[in-house]
Amino acid sequence: MSMKSAIKCNCGQRIIAKDVMQTGYYLRLFGPSFVYVKFRCSRCKKLGEQFVKQEEWEDGILRDIPSEKTSDEKARFDAMGPIDIHEAIQAHFQIDDLQSLMEKFVPHEESK
Ligand SMILES: [Zn+2]
Repeated sequence: MSMKSAIKCNCGQRIIAKDVMQTGYYLRLFGPSFVYVKFRCSRCKKLGEQFVKQEEWEDGILRDIPSEKTSDEKARFDAMGPIDIHEAIQAHFQIDDLQSLMEKFVPHEESK
């Protein structure tokens, strides 16, 4: 069984495809690559962005389907949370470097 990830706003709302404004790839020479997602939350209307490990990125991640998570799984996902990915990134990159990091993103549209 593959691990399912979800993108969530800071307010807890799950982000689905219609909320997504931009995606891109952040490719690293070493270590895991990340998928970058910029979104506007459908609940609180705030802009947000998220990094998802490429290996955790899957087609269903933005699909608007009823949650099939058990309460056990939910607790696990809540504990893991997308925020952890931000923290993982910040462990590798100084926050001051975030802007230069962003400039390295390859816009998803150009790969089509
Ligand atoms: Zn929100």
